[in-house]
Amino acid sequence: MATTTGLAEVSLITNLKCPECGTIHQANVINTVCTNPDCRSTLFAQYDLGTGIDKEILKKRPADMWRYREFLPVVDPKNIVTSGEGFTPVIPVQNLKDFIIGNQVFWKDESGNPTGSFKARGISAAVSKAKELGVKVMAIPTAGNAGGAMAAYAARAGIKAVVYMPKLTPQVFKDECRLYGADLVEIDGSISDCGKLVNEHSLQNGWFQLSTLKEPYRLEGKKTMGYEIAEQFNWELPDVILYPTGGGTGLIGIWKAFDEMEQLGWIGSKRPRMVTVQSESCDGIVRAFKAGKTESEFVDGGFTIANGLRVPKPYADKQILKVLRESNGNALTISDAEMSAALKEIARKEGMLMAPEGAALWPAYKKLKADNWIRPGERVLLINTGSGYKYLENIVI
Ligand SMILES: *Cc1c(COP(=O)(O)O)cnc(C)c1O
Ligand SMILES: [Zn+2]
Repeated sequence: MATTTGLAEVSLITNLKCPECGTIHQANVINTVCTNPDCRSTLFAQYDLGTGIDKEILKKRPADMWRYREFLPVVDPKNIVTSGEGFTPVIPVQNLKDFIIGNQVFWKDESGNPTGSFKARGISAAVSKAKELGVKVMAIPTAGNAGGAMAAYAARAGIKAVVYMPKLTPQVFKDECRLYGADLVEIDGSISDCGKLVNEHSLQNGWFQLSTLKEPYRLEGKKTMGYEIAEQFNWELPDVILYPTGGGTGLIGIWKAFDEMEQLGWIGSKRPRMVTVQSESCDGIVRAFKAGKTESEFVDGGFTIANGLRVPKPYADKQILKVLRESNGNALTISDAEMSAALKEIARKEGMLMAPEGAALWPAYKKLKADNWIRPGERVLLINTGSGYKYLENIVI
């Protein structure tokens, strides 16, 4: 790794704090959710952000997410399990210009990450910290990409991986898990059904669970998108960010990164408006947002070609809704037919083959622009969360 002249080279993690009830948890032991039995919220890692660290330290660092290592939880660098995840490109929309007159629209393209999605970020952080804390077996419920990423990073870390995945997931997601040496369990149901079984079997067998936002550090890995967005936009954040929301890790993480960077003095107080895009199949967040509620209901309309968006009730729904409200954001749904059409349009016109989750942001952008919710002159960032190559089974060409 390149050496730098910054003040810190090591993790500045101090502890974990519950965003709901404020309970503090130690960072040097295994944590799941808040231990307050009436709370059980996702925990947020806290860092010492008052030390005057200069963002100039980033300049000589490798182009991966560990360039932000002060704000990641791994204490001993030898525990970092990395395959070069992160520092993905920001790419302007080029040939679909007719629809972006008056706006600057960019993709943050996560498809080039190891295992083909931004799940690599969260899993790299979580597996590294699990390794640091001595975990030997880990289990995960997944809609597809998280399972493949965990299988790969567990293989690299020498940790045993067990993956629970819905049967109705393209074959490649299953094959990659087996190729990386994980045990794969196929379930007739959604990620929620997988989650129940992972919990049951983990308690029986002493496995560590990496379920979305019931483990604190996947959030930290995905948060690095927020740091990158600031750095790549030269510390002037875009006006609007659209995010295909499953469990909401990236949305919450990006927002957390903005808070941290403001405390560091790296950015000002101006924030993008954050937009959740869901599949019509699982639209609990959209419904709750529109109804002014602080929590979502369980909604499962079955299969969607955007496997990563079939999350009937995100565990951190309260945090997702908080980000949408604090940012004056929005929430909307896209149908499978719209996603499929967008995926093909973007492939033909832009030469990018996106995951349906990412492609969903294009029709969502068009709707928000047509409604004048996105206004002339605004800079808009669409997060393409994964590669389309793994989803070809879902697409009628
Ligand atoms: C998991 C996943 C999502 C949803 O991510 P969250 O951060 O959990 O909301 C979106 N797109 C793809 C491709 C995914 O794999
Ligand atoms: Zn709590």
